[in-house]
Amino acid sequence: MHIIRNIKDLRQQIATWRTEGSRISFVPTMGALHEGHLSLVNLARNHSDKIVVSIFVNPTQFGPNEDFSHYPRTEAQDLYRLNTVKTDMVFLPTVEEMYPAGFTTAVTVKGVSEGLCGAFRPGHFDGVATVVTKLFNMVTPDVVIFGEKDYQQLMVVRQLVRDLNMPVQVIGAPVLRETDGLAMSSRNRYLNSIERKTAAQLYTILSKVAEDIRSQKPVMAALLEGIKQLRGAGFSKVDYMELHNADNLQPMPEYKKPARLLVAAYMGNTRLIDNIEV
Ligand code: AMP
Repeated sequence: MHIIRNIKDLRQQIATWRTEGSRISFVPTMGALHEGHLSLVNLARNHSDKIVVSIFVNPTQFGPNEDFSHYPRTEAQDLYRLNTVKTDMVFLPTVEEMYPAGFTTAVTVKGVSEGLCGAFRPGHFDGVATVVTKLFNMVTPDVVIFGEKDYQQLMVVRQLVRDLNMPVQVIGAPVLRETDGLAMSSRNRYLNSIERKTAAQLYTILSKVAEDIRSQKPVMAALLEGIKQLRGAGFSKVDYMELHNADNLQPMPEYKKPARLLVAAYMGNTRLIDNIEV
């Protein structure tokens, strides 16, 4: 497994693989890797000869009051895990390598980035779109894998790739969950044992609301009931629970397939997100 920290060495290795005719897949991450991330690497293997994983906690996608400085950084363990799933290259650039002095460009994807998390985390998806564009230009992958765990992010990346004619195939990977249903997330490690136990209610309640909507309960009533249940279960703040068109992320006042139910809520100080197909 190649462990690479600067863009020059990355380009050199990619060029070597290109001359060999290899098909390259790419899985961008922020590290603190769990089984969900590894499932993306395993999926990547079905689509390529070489797998590149990046680990970069991207400062531009965090708001001023968010958790950039204490986001978990577990490099040694991450490298060990990536090696066990036969990753070919891990790219770990520094912030200075990614954003040298004088950097001024930002990429904005309109529409799909505007509601949901975009409304509660101003600038977040600009940070995502900018870093993803940079990473794609560096790695030049044939295929990229993003998790449906961050469903809106996946939609933003699809829109970005389409709008800017990026020659890359975007594949969405299903959400990997703990046995009690909680979606795996690097941020789950912020939860204390009581919060961790209660956090599983996010998926339980989400599933119940999805079932109500499927069985023709009016969408608004089902969502309001879901929010009430979340608060009752102990979520301190619910940013949103909304039904959207699964393809274009337009809000969906009346249920019609393809639909996606998305939620963001705080368990203590930890903001959790989840979503399911309806
Ligand atoms: P992150 O390190 O949180 O930026 O995530 C890196 C990639 O892993 C993103 O494409 C996420 O959507 C994906 N991911 C994170 N958690 C999960 C999960 N539980 N199941 C599937 N994919 C995930």
